[in-house]
Amino acid sequence: MSRYLIEAYQALEAYVPGEQPQDMQYVKLNTNESPYPPSPAVLNAAAEEAGRLQLYSDPACAALRDAIAGLYGVRRENVYVSNGSDDILNFAFMAFAGKGGRAYFPDISYGFYKVFGDLYGCAYETIPLEQDFRIDPSKYHHRDGLVVIANPNAPTGIALSVEEIEGIVRANPDHVVLIDEAYVDFGAESCVGLTAKYDNLLVVQTYSKSRSMAGARLGFAIAAEGLIADLDRIKYSTNPYNVNRMTLATGVAAIADNDFYMANCLRIEATRAKTSARLETLDFEVLPSKANFIFAKSDRIGGGALYQELKKRGVLVRHFDSPRIRDYNRITIGTPEQMDVLVNTIQSILGA
Ligand code: PMP
Repeated sequence: MSRYLIEAYQALEAYVPGEQPQDMQYVKLNTNESPYPPSPAVLNAAAEEAGRLQLYSDPACAALRDAIAGLYGVRRENVYVSNGSDDILNFAFMAFAGKGGRAYFPDISYGFYKVFGDLYGCAYETIPLEQDFRIDPSKYHHRDGLVVIANPNAPTGIALSVEEIEGIVRANPDHVVLIDEAYVDFGAESCVGLTAKYDNLLVVQTYSKSRSMAGARLGFAIAAEGLIADLDRIKYSTNPYNVNRMTLATGVAAIADNDFYMANCLRIEATRAKTSARLETLDFEVLPSKANFIFAKSDRIGGGALYQELKKRGVLVRHFDSPRIRDYNRITIGTPEQMDVLVNTIQSILGA
């Protein structure tokens, strides 16, 4: 830290992203990327657009917003796109909580929510998950600030139903309810359909997981026009060209290839079921996941030790060293071959 950093940020604990090792090849199951590459049409779109990089991108992102609107049955005015969905979460904390504002989210969830809360100096409260790591939706009713829920939740993978989300949205008519659907395409129910009915619901999704574009950085939000206009106001006050040309073009191509990506999601769901079953036969406890990862623990080895032993053997998973979850590891669902390596490596660690 330099002596120039203003006091407000001196105690800020930044988010620590999962490891992105650049040195050696791991079986990389630690940051919930898709194991499958983008579709051929997306690769073509990227190559074609590269020839126009001397030009700024469309600040209105019109073509991409129209494509997303078409797929989800909303209008362009209901869609906001950004440089990864983290950017939308950032803006939402800025716009709908802010300094002195309030925010509510689960104690075990996406670690960035706390960071944004701290960044803007909002008075956030974390609501403990139940003993079985489920969210009790009634605990989010009648709150006096921004409500943020990842659905499915991370790192547990457990999902709420649309009815449960609707109950929360209905019980907070004067505050924004942000549903972070980063992992929704792997078997959970989206609440995008509710945005036509409730002007306080902000649904956030990402291309990073189900659409194999983590490296392109593309997220989007769907909501009533007013909330989208609020996000736009902040975008035009910070970085109007927030999505680059290649990402805009590939985003449109990926929507046109929706069937390709949804087939990959089904493949990942099948691999998830098989991997969970195999870990259970090794006496792991695996939470019921609707995401492209599973959260699992073994009574035979601690979470931290398993993470270390796997890493030594070239398999990278994610371990969170915090009180309620340090016995667990979050394991991204890769290809069937990658999961074979994972299970075999675990077997050899436990056998040793
Ligand atoms: N929400 C959740 C719950 C996540 O796990 C992630 C991925 N780290 C994000 C949002 C952000 O994803 P991205 O910025 O890549 O869209």
